[in-house]
Amino acid sequence: MPDIVYPFAPPAVVSVPVVGRTERFPVHRIYCVGRNYEEHAKEMGFTGREPPFFFLKPADAIVVAEPGQAATIPYPSLTSNLHHEIELVVAIGTGGKNIKAPDAAKHIYGYAVGLDMTRRDLQNDMKKQGRPWCIGKAYDHSAPIGPITPAAQAGDVNSAPIWLQVNGTDRQRSTVAKLIWNVAETIEHLSAAWELQPGDLIYTGTPEGVAAVVRGDTLHGGVDGLTPILVKVA
Ligand code: MN
Repeated sequence: MPDIVYPFAPPAVVSVPVVGRTERFPVHRIYCVGRNYEEHAKEMGFTGREPPFFFLKPADAIVVAEPGQAATIPYPSLTSNLHHEIELVVAIGTGGKNIKAPDAAKHIYGYAVGLDMTRRDLQNDMKKQGRPWCIGKAYDHSAPIGPITPAAQAGDVNSAPIWLQVNGTDRQRSTVAKLIWNVAETIEHLSAAWELQPGDLIYTGTPEGVAAVVRGDTLHGGVDGLTPILVKVA
């Protein structure tokens, strides 16, 4: 077999550092759960009682906050209402389809803290017109993430406090226990629709308190037991 020749360099593997290990986690897909905390669903104008639904971001939307460092994201184009959504991120280490909730833990490599950054004005326009959310959710640099903590070292993230401060002031503060669809149930629903692969990331949804950031803001967010994330908007 001759070596494959490409007309240009193929894209680099996107990867996330792992706490306490030299290996990095190579990213396959980014799945996101919509409206997965009741109080956030209500602030968006919904009841909080619907089945889970999903959208995706491209893997290269990841912006890594390396350990002990702030990540920088550019203020994106076309928006004047850039929102933060602090989220627990689940990293899949073993793929599978039709995974049942009681088996979900075996498929989890680890957990991280992520931000589902959202061009809310564009997302709202698309919602009104019944069009896809891609331009609001899946834009470049829309998925900041901190280092992944292996599951065995992460403690009980399912009941951990989740919080976000902007410029030192609380914006979001809740607990992962308030997820409408918990991590295991989310994996069950997601893997019924797609075959999960090693390298998949799941942004599990955000609690109430989403709001706008502007150039110069510093976002500091966490899920207790995991490495917090620090992001600056340039
Ligand atoms: Mn979200």
